[in-house]
Amino acid sequence: RERRLIRQRHLPACSTDGVTVELKANIELPEEVTLAEEYGASGVGLYRTEFLYMNRKEPPGEEEQFEAYLRVVQVMDGHPVTIRTLDLGADKQVDGSRREAGTHSHVLNPALGLRAIRMCLREPDLFRPQLRAILRASAFGHMRMMIPMISAIEEVHQALALVKEIREELTAEGHAFDPQMPIGGMVEVPAVAMAACAFARHLDFFSIGTNDLIQYALAIDRVDDDVNYLYDPLHPGVLHLIANTIRAGRQAGIPVAMCGEMAGDPRYTRLLLGLGLQEFSMHPSAIPEVKEIIRGASYADARQYAEQLLSCM
Ligand code: PEP
Ligand code: MG
Repeated sequence: RERRLIRQRHLPACSTDGVTVELKANIELPEEVTLAEEYGASGVGLYRTEFLYMNRKEPPGEEEQFEAYLRVVQVMDGHPVTIRTLDLGADKQVDGSRREAGTHSHVLNPALGLRAIRMCLREPDLFRPQLRAILRASAFGHMRMMIPMISAIEEVHQALALVKEIREELTAEGHAFDPQMPIGGMVEVPAVAMAACAFARHLDFFSIGTNDLIQYALAIDRVDDDVNYLYDPLHPGVLHLIANTIRAGRQAGIPVAMCGEMAGDPRYTRLLLGLGLQEFSMHPSAIPEVKEIIRGASYADARQYAEQLLSCM
């Protein structure tokens, strides 16, 4: 059966009534990009770059990052590659990180602390080489850049200002880059999902990170086994956050993706299709089954089902 599903890898993820969505791959290591190809991903929807930084003393330099990103865009051969900027902190700690030993130990709630874009903006020496590497690799394929854990509009402004500065720097140095590279944000903080229309004005796309969004919305630590029985993607509050983000993105005319675990879980495929999600990004091996569900589903029915579910809350 698996083989039959993989054989469908060149078929579009199109519903019976003609709505096509993108099924993309989540990857953690540049090597995994071949899996994305194998399972028929139409691009990389989440490239988790922090794995380049883990289990080592010094962070990777610009050249090392450039090589890694270049390889991924080249293998994807024109398909979009969505690179997430560094998402360190909380559940993703680095051994021998540049932070002074013990600085985390007094932090009681690391998931609510200095992580992801917060850490990058605080430490430009860490962030700049990555932005330079991403922009330089963007000259060689179809690259999109995605910012994790945004909570304030000001963070978007600061990140965009830094990108602008680096573009000028690269131009002066004679480096090529894609001046149109889309820059999107992850929707992982409930307040951002609720105010998604305000954020949509400044970003080129959204990607909903349900792993964190659910953690924050339901106040359950994603790495605490004692409370994971409460982890419920179908919680009415969670569905409203997802629906509002998709609605806001569509109204602003920017694509809305999802790259948390929920996107690759076949139990939620029809619902997400019905909510109007345009891009699903998941572990490559989950793509064939999700594709089969979409190809057998009617968008009109899925939409009715989603609306019913939302209205009875
Ligand atoms: C998420 O939070 O849903 C996500 C995709 O990011 P990560 O799991 O890497 O935090
Ligand atoms: Mg996350």
